[in-house]
Amino acid sequence: MTIDEIAALLRQGLTNTAIAQQLPVSRQQVAQARRDLRIPDVPRQKSTLEEKWGARTQRVEGGHIMWTGERSASGSMVFWHCSKSYTAHRVAFLIKHGRWPVGVARTSCAYRGCVAPDHTDDEVGRRRTYEQLRYIAGYSAPPATCVHGHDQGEHGAFTAEGHSFCRRCQVAHNRKAKERRRRSS
Ligand SMILES: [Zn+2]
Ligand SMILES: [Zn+2]
Repeated sequence: MTIDEIAALLRQGLTNTAIAQQLPVSRQQVAQARRDLRIPDVPRQKSTLEEKWGARTQRVEGGHIMWTGERSASGSMVFWHCSKSYTAHRVAFLIKHGRWPVGVARTSCAYRGCVAPDHTDDEVGRRRTYEQLRYIAGYSAPPATCVHGHDQGEHGAFTAEGHSFCRRCQVAHNRKAKERRRRSS
């Protein structure tokens, strides 16, 4: 008997939705049974910021994590929690470090848009990595600022060959090249 089955699951503390998924009944029918049996609603579990973040991510090969959640009009990975908006990277950073990032939190790996907490850095982390690479690269001792005055502690990067370059200038350069191609086609 389905009604007995519903009653059994209701008494186990399952939600209407969970029961409707297990038995060939609708949520409305489960809700009706709950009222008939005078079994109170399951208190809605308030999900934490981390849980919300987790529900919007998907692990992919190589330890990277993809964002499957909302995006802003400009394409940023953002979501809302308790009427505040958070970027996927800020929360990824918080999960890993237990504190909010200083400055902008960004992917530190080469996987485009990766939000893995292990692959997310803030300004402090980037500066530290840059200083280490700068020390390892040694011979090329890169400048503190690029020709356009961008702080290299924040925007500096190295190629696989150890040459320093400004990531911010490179992004601007790529964008201009793309615009040129669009205009000429
Ligand atoms: Zn990654
Ligand atoms: Zn620059």
